[in-house]
Amino acid sequence: MADSSVKPEILAPAGSPEKLKYAIAYGADAVYLGGTGFGLRAAAANFDLPSMARAVEYAHRHGVRVYVTLNIFAHHRDIDALPPYIKELARLGVDAVIVSDLGVLSLVRELAPALKVHISTQANTTNWRTARLWETLGAGRIVLARELSLEEIGTMRDHVGVELEVFVHGAMCVSYSGRCLLSNYMTGRGANQGDCAQSCRWKYRLVEEKRPGEYFPFMEDDRGTYILSSRDLCLLEHLPGLVKAGVTSFKIEGRVKSIHYAAAITRVYRQALDAYWSDPENYSVRSEWLEEISKVSNREYTTGFITGLRPGETPPAYSIYRRPYTFVGVVLGYDRQRSMLLVEQRNRFARGETLEVLTPGRESFNLEVTEITDAEGNHLEAAPHPRQTVYLPWPGAVPQMSLLRRAEH
Ligand code: SF4
Repeated sequence: MADSSVKPEILAPAGSPEKLKYAIAYGADAVYLGGTGFGLRAAAANFDLPSMARAVEYAHRHGVRVYVTLNIFAHHRDIDALPPYIKELARLGVDAVIVSDLGVLSLVRELAPALKVHISTQANTTNWRTARLWETLGAGRIVLARELSLEEIGTMRDHVGVELEVFVHGAMCVSYSGRCLLSNYMTGRGANQGDCAQSCRWKYRLVEEKRPGEYFPFMEDDRGTYILSSRDLCLLEHLPGLVKAGVTSFKIEGRVKSIHYAAAITRVYRQALDAYWSDPENYSVRSEWLEEISKVSNREYTTGFITGLRPGETPPAYSIYRRPYTFVGVVLGYDRQRSMLLVEQRNRFARGETLEVLTPGRESFNLEVTEITDAEGNHLEAAPHPRQTVYLPWPGAVPQMSLLRRAEH
């Protein structure tokens, strides 16, 4: 049943209208996003219906598909509120909804039979019998559990006709994909309601009740430990195997991450998939891709469960957060008359710094900040204000939506 002759899609996170545009500019074939329409409270889910309509229009104009998350485990109150939202999503022309709950699936099938349904990774599909059942219930695609090996994905492909989607990059749960109450307990934000605070990634120390303020390390190293925090997934080296296994969609995690993350990671996977597709025999992971993913904030990389766990082996080890580069601005345009880049500040940067420019279409390059001026031509020592628009001298045009970042050594 495998059909590795169809090029898979790169599916990128779109946590906001701006991130959607960057994901598309940097090479996504499809994006996924969340709505606010019926009580999904996720931090990333900031598309109300009008902004979702604009997002769908924008994405479709660029030939990009839009999938909307409906993957809460619904309570009665959600079921009561869902029908108008589902009808509205169908009316907007979204390409699919992502569902984990059987009740929600049945509602979508009933109210919007033409709307394609993807089964969320939160449904934890780990075997072909489950996948086949989802298929018979009308699912068009299954986002497989991250805990599957490549061999298991291949077996899945052999038994079902439904499309398969696999996470290839991004954060992983230390629990079984979202089946965890840590965030509910510590913040009141429910992972199974699409609102995880990612509490497992916080830095923990031991404190004895009668000694407030005395924090004892868990002794992993002298900076404390992150015993609950998994490393981040990166499957660049396994793209060929996943293509051969008939995977339809390569999904990048991270709706709450920055536009820097969305742009940089989407670009790497776009380049990697295109490289494999044009010359499968000679595919290898390029050093510039590894360099690029290391420049984005991460928790060290792992290939997760893709090679399977042998007896006695532990799941991906815990990790420490690293942010080697700071994203400082976006290029809004180029003033040819003054030979100046028009830049919107996102983090403070100053005259004399060297920034790296990440562009949608060409290689990254360095830019020396020799001068900063404001719109009135006043000289500034720094661009300290968020969203401040400044001008930087530069001899040639740089594509809009290029990103500026600074190495933090
Ligand atoms: S707290 Fe961590 S392990 Fe739990 S659901 Fe959230 S991301 Fe997953």
